[in-house]
This record gives sequence, structure tokens and C-alpha cells, in this order.
Amino acid sequence: MKYYSTNRKAPVASLREAVVKGLAPDRGLYMPEKIKTLPTSFFEHIEQLSFQEIACTVADAFFGEDINREDLHRIVCDTLAFDCPVAQVEENIYSLELFHGPTLAFKDVGARFMARLLQYFIRQEGSGQVNVLVATSGDTGSAVANGFLGVEGIHVYVLYPKGKVSPIQECQFTTLGQNITAIEVDGVFDDCQALVKQAFLDQQLNEHMKLTSANSINVARFLPQAFYYFNAYARMKALGKADNMVMCVPSGNFGNITAGLFGSAMGLPIKRWIAANNANDIFYNYLLTGKYEPKASIQTLANAMDVGDPSNFARVYDLYGGSHERITSHISGATYSDDDIRETMRECHEQTGYVLDPHGACGYRALKELLADGETGVFCETAHPAKFKEKVDEILKTDIPIPTRLAEFMKGEKKSVEMTKKFEDFKAFLLKE
Ligand SMILES: *Cc1c(COP(=O)(O)O)cnc(C)c1O
Repeated sequence: MKYYSTNRKAPVASLREAVVKGLAPDRGLYMPEKIKTLPTSFFEHIEQLSFQEIACTVADAFFGEDINREDLHRIVCDTLAFDCPVAQVEENIYSLELFHGPTLAFKDVGARFMARLLQYFIRQEGSGQVNVLVATSGDTGSAVANGFLGVEGIHVYVLYPKGKVSPIQECQFTTLGQNITAIEVDGVFDDCQALVKQAFLDQQLNEHMKLTSANSINVARFLPQAFYYFNAYARMKALGKADNMVMCVPSGNFGNITAGLFGSAMGLPIKRWIAANNANDIFYNYLLTGKYEPKASIQTLANAMDVGDPSNFARVYDLYGGSHERITSHISGATYSDDDIRETMRECHEQTGYVLDPHGACGYRALKELLADGETGVFCETAHPAKFKEKVDEILKTDIPIPTRLAEFMKGEKKSVEMTKKFEDFKAFLLKE
């Protein structure tokens, strides 16, 4: 399968090139040239298949031409070492719980898949160590670091802004050791990102070491997220609830929902989609006006969705041939303030006992408001509420337990390399590695 750039000014790339490069040279996002539809017979009996079996079929359609079947299925099964179950919250609303992975957020799926795919390509080529640079404001660093932990042939450098990530987030990438190095930058997230970008452009550094990125725009990180939408459909079908199923995705950079939209293009019978935004309402406004107007992001309670220029908008636009009409006929939107989020978390907790995290709360609320009679809604619970324990406890007046796997991180010893925000210092450090 070849991958083209959404800007259409770069040559088509192989899967390996698209994964190693991340972004196309014309700064566009890679898209698969073909989207294979799956046979109706697959959907007729899908409820009899396991998550792994479903995921392998979906993976074959995306990656089957480029990776041999046995290796691909091993990568898929290693990635999905945990479940993504649906839980009933009320009569017609279900939660697709994507927080059962090692770092308790949906990003685990994409990060684990990408790590294993990159390792596969490195082994095939017999090339030396590859170094992944990733800048994080919190959640991406933990998913990427844990996804790549112990993966032979790959070293990961996580750059994060000193004192600006939560203690729980920080310990998820500073206590791992092995092939993970945490770099604590005396600056803000943008400084971390600038260091990473400059490193990719620096000739001397690139001659010294093989560098790649694990950004969320990477095809190997976003496409595998389609697996759990197919699985959600299968589990809802087993319950007799899959007709008129509406999928609602709390969205920031729009990678997660885009993977689901690819699922629809492959024939997954989801009736329609809802993108739930926090106060960062760029996509919501696009649906209303047909104009895409990025702006600076606003800080909210659902901070992993604080995105003012969602990268994957380019993919959504491309997938629907740039047609506003087609986009709005398949996807609707919603936007919620921090007060709405707090109110929704409280109401849901009081009425159903279900504890939402601030991101999932946007999804749940959108279903409450937008679901029509006869429809069943499933929203993505994108992170475990304990990841935002301080906020959740304050809002719900609870003391929610911290899952063991999260508590384990907090026992580890923090190790990080202190760094200024000057590129020369960062470069000198890498040259000594
Ligand atoms: C990253 C993230 C999101 C947003 O997902 P996108 O793919 O960027 O739209 C939502 N919730 C949580 C908890 C996240 O970590």
C-alpha cells in the first residue's frame, strides 16, 4: 500500500517511509491510497469473534500488503495485551473504556502498535539503533515511553517542561529506565517541541544518529485506533444494541475519531459520529460555518483536548473529498465549557454511579444532548479518572482509588536529565550519546 500526502506535493511513500518520516516532506499528513471495505459476512458474524481476531482482520486490510501475516498478527496481539470493553452507563448510553492499558489512556493502543511496527522495520533492514524524540505536555510522553519500553533497537528521549506536568504524569516516563531517557527542559512545552523539530533538521546530528518521531500524526499511531471501534460494534451487536449506533469521541487533535471514520469507510455500520470538544471549538465552528479557522488553544479541565489547530482535520477533510456537506451529514459536533464538564461529571455520578474523567464527560454529555429516539450511543472514555485524581475528587467530592498499575509508577525512582532550552546544549548532549 502506498501513502500520499494530504498536501499532494510530496511523492507517495511506502508504509515504512511513512512510519519513519511521520510527517510528509510537504508538511502534509500521510493517507493510505486505498481503503479496503470488509465483506458484509465479516460484520454478520463479528460478535462471535474476539477483540484480537477482529483487530487482525482490520490490520490485514490496512497493513497486510506490507507486513507478512504472521508478524502482523503478532504485533497486533502484543499491542492488545489489554481489553477495551464497553460498559453500560444508562439505558441507551455505553462507555467504550479505553483506559485499561499500561498508562490508562487510549494513546496506549497507537503507541504500542507503532513501537512494534518500527522494531519490525528495523529488524528487517538490519539497521542499527533508532532514536525516537518526543516532546510532551504530559500524556503523549507516558504512552510513547511505555509503548517503546524494552523494545530492542530503539531508544526514546522524552522531552518535557520542568514543573509543568502533573506528578502522576511525570513518574510515568521518568521512572522507567532501560531504553527510556527523560529530559527535563527548563522551559515550556513549546520549547521542548522546538528542540525536537530543530534536531530533525540538524545535519550533523542526523549523521551521528538515526532520529525519528512518534508524533500522533504518524500513520502507525492513528490507524490502529480503528481496532477498538470494530470491537465496540461487535460487543454492542452481541447485546442486540448495534442498530442505529452512534459513536461519540472526545476530540482534540482528531486522531482518535479519524481512525473511527476510516472504520466507517471500510464498512463498519456506525450510523453517525459525534466529535465532542471542550471550549476549543474549532471543529465545532467548522461544522457550523464551513470555515476552518485555527486559533490559540485555551486551557481547560480536559487538557488533553486543548488543541487550537487539530492536525488531523486535514485527514478528515481529505477523507470526505473536502465536502462540508458530506462531513456534516456524517459527523456532528458539540463544545463544552469547564462548568459544563463539572456539572456533567456530578450529574452522571449522582444518577448512575459512573465516574467520568473530564474528557469522557464531554462525550457523555454530547450523547445526552444529541441522541435521537431509537439510537444507542457509545462514547469513548479516553482516560481513567484516576489520571486526573485531584480534579475528579474535588469535583465529585470523592477519594477515587488509584489503580495498582498507576501506583506502581509512583513507587519508582525519578531519573531525568536536566536541560536548558538552548539547542546547542541539547545537541551536545545527544552527540555524546
Ligand atoms: C489525546 C487525548 C484526547 C484527544 O484525542 P485526539 O486523538 O487528539 O482527538 C482525549 N482524551 C484524552 C484523555 C487524551 O489523552
